[in-house]
Amino acid sequence: MVSKTVSKFALDATAFYQGFHLHSDSRCITTGLVFEEISHIQEKLSVLESLISNKKIMILEPSEDSIRKVRSIITQIGETRLSDADVSIIALSKEFNAILVTDDFAICNLANTLSIELLNLGTKGIKDTRKWIKFCKSCGRGYPPTQRVCSLCGNNLRIRFKKLIGSKSVQDQK
Ligand SMILES: [Zn+2]
Repeated sequence: MVSKTVSKFALDATAFYQGFHLHSDSRCITTGLVFEEISHIQEKLSVLESLISNKKIMILEPSEDSIRKVRSIITQIGETRLSDADVSIIALSKEFNAILVTDDFAICNLANTLSIELLNLGTKGIKDTRKWIKFCKSCGRGYPPTQRVCSLCGNNLRIRFKKLIGSKSVQDQK
């Protein structure tokens, strides 16, 4: 069993694409779904497999409970860009208290909402944690993401971002 308190890195697909696992001395964890996503890079598969057999990379699965929590936050903030693999790595980082290594905007956004520590590799950094807001252009009323028309005036709702909190992402650290 892996300790849930030791600081370690959880890698999403973008972290693997950038080769983070090749340069890190710390243990890296990921999920089966993320691994599936990256395993089509055939020429690098042997490197990955040897890192896995040396336990430098561990493939773990988040509990159903963590997945459920992440999904409920996703529904609350109206984030629609996350794949099952994304959800799994977010849930895993939260559960194992791992630093989430990613370059994916939507993943960063959700990680900030869940107070997961981030290591952003720096190509497409995130500035703010934002929430999708639906609103009526005529009367200005705000609505949850599932609403499609204004219940007062019947207009189609527009969508915009609302800033929630400042960025918590950490810069490159060894
Ligand atoms: Zn309205």
